[in-house]
Amino acid sequence: MALQVIEPATEQVLAELPQAGVEETDEAVARAKAAFPAWRDVSPNERANILRGLATAIEDQAEELARLEARNVGKPISDARGEVGMVIDTFLYYSGAPERLLGDTIPVAGGVDFTFREPLGVVGLITPWNFPIAITSWKVAPALAAGNTIVLKPAELTPLTALELEKIAVEAGLPEGVFNVVVGPGRVVGERIVQHPDVAKVAFTGSTEVGRRIGALASESIKRVTLELGGKSANIVFADADLEKAAASAPLAVFGNAGQDCCARSRILVERSALDRFMDSLEEAVDALRVGDPLDAETQMGPLISADQREKVASYANGDAPVAIRGSAPDGPGFWFPPTVLCPVANDDRAAREEIFGPVAAVIPFDSEEEAVRLANDTIYGLSGSIWTRNGARAMRMARAVEGGALSVNSNTSVRVTTPFGGFKQSGIGRELGPHALEHYTELKNVFFAT
Ligand code: NDP
Repeated sequence: MALQVIEPATEQVLAELPQAGVEETDEAVARAKAAFPAWRDVSPNERANILRGLATAIEDQAEELARLEARNVGKPISDARGEVGMVIDTFLYYSGAPERLLGDTIPVAGGVDFTFREPLGVVGLITPWNFPIAITSWKVAPALAAGNTIVLKPAELTPLTALELEKIAVEAGLPEGVFNVVVGPGRVVGERIVQHPDVAKVAFTGSTEVGRRIGALASESIKRVTLELGGKSANIVFADADLEKAAASAPLAVFGNAGQDCCARSRILVERSALDRFMDSLEEAVDALRVGDPLDAETQMGPLISADQREKVASYANGDAPVAIRGSAPDGPGFWFPPTVLCPVANDDRAAREEIFGPVAAVIPFDSEEEAVRLANDTIYGLSGSIWTRNGARAMRMARAVEGGALSVNSNTSVRVTTPFGGFKQSGIGRELGPHALEHYTELKNVFFAT
């Protein structure tokens, strides 16, 4: 059956594609397996050159890719351009890796001991619909740099830029069979990748629920797994912070990508003595948010990905917690939802506990630093988070005490090509980006050489 890819801003069909099943997945794994020995043995210098060539080829088509991503996800074109820029940077960054995958020499008695970082073989990559091409590059670039071959399954809602990337990679000189994209349902194609005996490792980004299932299935063959899952991150604002700055940046920290962001600071913890001032500034910032056509360069927030996602988001926004601020959104067609701030919210409310993945923020007042830490950590998740204060010692204490893999102080950004990204607790296993990602695409081999 053909797959219809829908444009969220118009509800029109953007593309129709054939849908793969188990047979096509097995064929892709076989191609990747056949291509592995030759790709592993390409010299480090040549592999670096191919990755740099791939970055240049992506740059040549950056605007087309950004427009396709904006239309398929419904994200603002300015965001999509930034994300394609990050894709280019990610390939350039990891093009430095083949020649720098260093080992150790270890002092031992009776000989020489040294280590290698070996590629794993065929790696299976399963990606979500919220940042399709960016998240794809976070996995593809280190996997290729380390000498692995790839079977990639993009989300069926947003497969278009992954398919373009596959074409670009072949044109840029990546050998046949090294990078294979399979478009099909997660329950079928995704699970086949996870269970396939010739796939050495799975890297997944998506919901904690599916991550749990992938972990369980992968454990049957002791397959390597990295998981980048959900979040319910805290944006912690102390009364001694630059409140205007904290409030001005809070809306995009949760409404960016229409809230469909695992790093969304969807719980805003505000010191009670500053609550009224903070809420006034926040309201101004929400009112100023430009929600509309993703292809308009001024737009800051587009529609949600699907009607199902909108229904899910509405169930939180229309729950028990009072609505304090509601922005505006266009009428249909399109899966629009207005940015919404709930206040005050108890930390045990559903809107404060579960990942909403939509433009809904929960404001939770607190009275002391200890209470802020307790509330921030009272969640199954631990992905990102922010601390806003002018007190340097408090900032350091909080940065150590908050359980999260990607924190920021007086900023709401989490992701950089050069720094590790990933979660504590049920937000995941492993790290992407930075030098650390390479550890997850290689196996450590130790050799003792008797002298
Ligand atoms: P999923 O976790 O279901 O989807 C992520 C990817 O996993 C998609 O490629 C999907 O394929 C695939 N997949 C689904 N089921 C399986 C399976 N059993 N085995 C292997 N792969 C599978 O996210 P949803 O699209 O359903 O979104 C639901 C919620 O997940 C969101 O509301 C949000 O809370 C969270 N989410 C979190 C993300 C994050 O970055 N942390 C990203 C996306 C979602 P396909 O969709 O094609 O079937």
